Amino acid sequence: MFDALANGFRQAKNRLAGLTELNEQNIDTALREVRLSLLEADVELGVVKAFLARVKEKALGEVVRVKTKSADGSTVKVSAGDQFIKICHDELVAFMTAEGPAITFAEKGPTGIMMVGLQGSGKTTTTSKLAHYLTREEKKKPLLVAADMQRPAAVEQLQVLGRSLKIPVFNIPGETPLEICKKAREEARAKGYDVIIYDTAGRLAIDAPLMDELGAIKDAVKPENIFLVVDSMIGQDAVKVSKGFHDRLELTGVVLTKLDGDARGGAALSVKEVTGAPVRFIGVGEGADKFEEFRPEGMASRVLG
Ligand code: GDP
Repeated sequence: MFDALANGFRQAKNRLAGLTELNEQNIDTALREVRLSLLEADVELGVVKAFLARVKEKALGEVVRVKTKSADGSTVKVSAGDQFIKICHDELVAFMTAEGPAITFAEKGPTGIMMVGLQGSGKTTTTSKLAHYLTREEKKKPLLVAADMQRPAAVEQLQVLGRSLKIPVFNIPGETPLEICKKAREEARAKGYDVIIYDTAGRLAIDAPLMDELGAIKDAVKPENIFLVVDSMIGQDAVKVSKGFHDRLELTGVVLTKLDGDARGGAALSVKEVTGAPVRFIGVGEGADKFEEFRPEGMASRVLG
């Protein structure tokens, strides 16, 4: 899923093969390879520039260190390629690492998780995957709320998914999404569910009525978590969509879906830097288990080999 990125870093390392010294010239040569692969992987241009600048600054700082080691007769062999890749690794992780836990749990009463996203992003599927994850990993008792009244089949789709996972789905036919979400809270309190996951309406594009509806739900149920579900296959648009939702709703995280497809994965690197909202989870397939917490360390190791 991160092949394009991995390829560029490999090329950069090859450029430095056999060298024991990092200097401005070979750093620039290596960075050119990295730049190409970042752009090819759909990393946002500003993020590419910021990343390269930080790696260059760190690498130039290392020049002295590498030289000192070889000059004082130390037996430790430092390869320029390894040194460079280590710097890239640390910077990649820094670009993607978020503060706080992926999910914030309420101290008292049920925890609210509001799922938002455009139609087709994988929002409804991800809602059920998250519920499954919470029962499996956190031993929680979630209630799913079908509040996507925009797409006619969404309610039934969530009910089918809920049944297969043995997780209850709350809906009131004919009621407004806002009322459904409010009543779901009462239901959760009365029946002892500890997490409520709201599957809200999606639309084909970000528009004012959608944002107003989501804003009203947010104000009414005050969820501890708001996750935007974004399809990674839409490339650079994933970052634009994230920014649009974050500006209005203050997301606590992003779920990048369909990373199992031929998405180039650049959004994983760009989202937090551009929007301020970190990627918290990734979707890697259609099945209920194909859902993972996003781990920047793991992703960086995968990309850098
Ligand atoms: P919604 O309109 O945002 O609620 O989208 P859906 O949840 O209905 O998902 C749209 C399509 O994307 C469905 O066919 C899902 O099975 C599929 N999908 C969702 N997440 C993933 C994923 O991580 N990987 C793959 N391959 N397909 C996914």
